[in-house]
Amino acid sequence: GATLGVLGGGQLGQMFVHAAQAMGYRTAVLDADPTSPAGLVSHAHVRSGYEDPQGLAELAQLCAAVTTEFENVPAAALRTLALQLPVSPAGDAVAIAQDRAAEKAHFVRCGVPCAPYAEITTPAQLAAVGANLLPGILKTTRMGYDGKGQARVRTAAELAAAWDAMGRVDCVLEKMLPLVHECSVIVARGRDGAIVHLPVQRNLHRDGILAVTEVHAGNVPETQAAQAVAAAESVAHGLNYVGVLCVEFFVLDDGSLVVNEIAPRPHNSGHYSQNAMDVSQFELQVRCMTGLPLVQPRQHSAAVMLNLLGDLWFQDGMPRTPAWDQVLALPGTHLHLYGKTDAKPARKMGHLNITAATPEQARGVALQAAAILGIAPY
Ligand code: ATP
Ligand code: MG
Ligand code: MG
Repeated sequence: GATLGVLGGGQLGQMFVHAAQAMGYRTAVLDADPTSPAGLVSHAHVRSGYEDPQGLAELAQLCAAVTTEFENVPAAALRTLALQLPVSPAGDAVAIAQDRAAEKAHFVRCGVPCAPYAEITTPAQLAAVGANLLPGILKTTRMGYDGKGQARVRTAAELAAAWDAMGRVDCVLEKMLPLVHECSVIVARGRDGAIVHLPVQRNLHRDGILAVTEVHAGNVPETQAAQAVAAAESVAHGLNYVGVLCVEFFVLDDGSLVVNEIAPRPHNSGHYSQNAMDVSQFELQVRCMTGLPLVQPRQHSAAVMLNLLGDLWFQDGMPRTPAWDQVLALPGTHLHLYGKTDAKPARKMGHLNITAATPEQARGVALQAAAILGIAPY
């Protein structure tokens, strides 16, 4: 079969490779790290950086189509590859997702409300910040993830100090909003503009990192759920997006829905789709990039996903192996480990999907698994 390429060798790339291979494709991963999770399972592994013309040329030579799993891949690399073969998502769309200011401007263009914000790129902009944006969260415009590159500030003085501490790089200041909960929607949009979506995912973050995702009818009130799907679709259409896109939302205490940010790729909050949907987000990625038909995925089980962070590989500072045998003795548990050998606190090592006939059963098993593993209950 044809070879499909992916920029980036992390776990998202690994799960893409698995999905592509299951559908009969060969795969090629571009990543400089010789032990990257995706590189380890791929047919071909181009060991080069994203800016190396030779590596990109080698990838283009091998592949019939290319996608990305890494949100901060240089847009220029995608544009270069697009001269030779289909690339989805396109460099222009990814460039917007990489820049919080451009991203928010896009939300405004699409008529999708986001948190009140101001760009902070000059001392004058800093001085002009109104009290209405405080308390707020200062976020670097580029390269932030898992809550990195963010500072919570209450006063103008704290804001100035935080910007200094960040080296005065380009930032946006967002008003701190009263979140009742967070949710996300994954859409897949084909070259012909056809779009399908996964159900609304309810997400719990801890220390800025996704900890738990719950997906079942009623996890988010019907009105907000319908709004979230419509907003995600309009964000994707507005980008003329081809591929899998995740849109993150906040639900506020007054019931309103606010968009947070987008990720131009499959997303951690969509991992439950591997076991609870009849089409996973990674199969959707394969279908988008190859021009195969998109059919609306169907959820066949209530689902909970628990992220497995490196913390679980330690107890009282000593290395340990989590008790997988006990977890897998629970009904409907599906263990996904990424093959990373060096566990570090807060590092994403894997995830546990739990499927069940009812949301109550899924949550019950998830809480048992969490207790066994030493994950805080939720
Ligand atoms: P990701 O790993 O999802 O890309 P990130 O580093 O880009 O994360 P954000 O999604 O911007 O970070 O923020 C991380 C978390 O911080 C959010 O999921 C939310 O819990 C909280 N947060 C961010 N912005 C706000 C806000 N304006 N008001 C309240 N809480 C917020
Ligand atoms: Mg982000
Ligand atoms: Mg986020």
